Amino acid sequence: MNAYLASVLENVKSKHGNEPEFVQTVEEVLSSLEPVIEKHPEYEKVDLLTRMVEPERMFTFRVTWEDDNGNWHTNTGWRCQFNGAIGPYKGGLRFQSNVYPGIIKFLGFEQTFKNSLTGLPIGGGKGGSDFDPAGKSDAEILRFCQSFMQALYRYIGPDVDVPAGDMGVGAREIGYLYGEYRRLKGAFENGVLTGKGFSYGGSLIRPEATGYGAVYYLENVLRHEGETLVDKTIACAGFGNVTWGICKKAAELGAKVVTLSGPDGYVYDPEGVITEEKIAYLLEMRASGRNRVQDYADNFPNVEFFPGEKPWGVKVDICMPSAMQNDVHMEHAKKISQAGVKYYIEVANMPTTNDALKYLMDCGMIVAPSKAVNAGGVATSALEMAQNSERLVWTAEEVDRQLKQIMDTIYSMSVEAAEKYGLDYNLVAGANIAGFQRVADAMMAQGPF
Ligand code: GLU
Repeated sequence: MNAYLASVLENVKSKHGNEPEFVQTVEEVLSSLEPVIEKHPEYEKVDLLTRMVEPERMFTFRVTWEDDNGNWHTNTGWRCQFNGAIGPYKGGLRFQSNVYPGIIKFLGFEQTFKNSLTGLPIGGGKGGSDFDPAGKSDAEILRFCQSFMQALYRYIGPDVDVPAGDMGVGAREIGYLYGEYRRLKGAFENGVLTGKGFSYGGSLIRPEATGYGAVYYLENVLRHEGETLVDKTIACAGFGNVTWGICKKAAELGAKVVTLSGPDGYVYDPEGVITEEKIAYLLEMRASGRNRVQDYADNFPNVEFFPGEKPWGVKVDICMPSAMQNDVHMEHAKKISQAGVKYYIEVANMPTTNDALKYLMDCGMIVAPSKAVNAGGVATSALEMAQNSERLVWTAEEVDRQLKQIMDTIYSMSVEAAEKYGLDYNLVAGANIAGFQRVADAMMAQGPF
């Protein structure tokens, strides 16, 4: 990292020392940008990077709701409108008890580069609440979502800021949030949220999009090595919507996901999560709200459950950490390398600590970064926005075709960006550079603000 980038990072560290996830993602991105900054002194001249690491706007709001026993609770809501240079702010809402400004900021920063990579007109944003949806009744979720939207609705809109789902926010929550928005605005502005149900403006393939997109990206990586998905084994983490999409598409293309994980441990299914019944069961597990992966082992024969452990170190061809941030630490990275894994394809937002990611790359493993791999989700959200504004509905085939094309383009743009700056086949740096470039161009064109 050159002196300019190091000084930007130092400032972020001193200002955000109590937000380690944000510092981590800034460090990860900046460490790829040295050749770009050296070639473009105009960026340093206007101190573009300091501007880029500062959210355009971030606000906090009170969310008060009543539980089923008549007790009142107060949570905090946040929305970070990180960067709107290339389009309306766009990014999910996360409802999880560990949410705090550092999580929202790291996700908003990642989102800015990810959205840029899609090539579509969407800026970066993220929001959420420290509300814990686990164990809440449907009526409690409804009241929470209504209260959340009452605070947020003035600050979002189809051309302003378009939230979506993330952890703890799925189709049900988006439905409740949208219902409240429509009531408050008195208008059918369904382009204000994505991930909607199909009946009121959701896009076909959006539920599958993140997982499908990840597998389309993976196909590109395999092709580069002269390989295909046929007979490949994949270790996934989590068992949510993203992992479900990976299982489905991988099975269709002849590969098999053999591990899933949860807060209680991981399961190993040597036959793979490949049958329709098994894939559908993942949705049941999620809908149950139990948040237990052991249920999968209890429900299917020949599946082993490893309580309290993670699937990193299982012998597979491909690892796809698809659960949450910082799931893979140095100790896991070492196990992954010892297991002879050839491909490490990040899926969850920032699933790897920076030292572990560097270790895996230094081992010679082929590493792909989440901001490229999981961009199919938000890309399909942008396709949902396009359908809403055109008042049209595209077929599943049409959306899937565009999704695949977008993923192929993200892959090739990343490869080309790395090559352009003499970094060989470095998909991590390539994604950072390609994502940065478009936002930088737009910011330079729009003048200092
Ligand atoms: N939360 C998802 C992400 O991390 C989706 C965001 C969206 O569709 O706006 O990209």
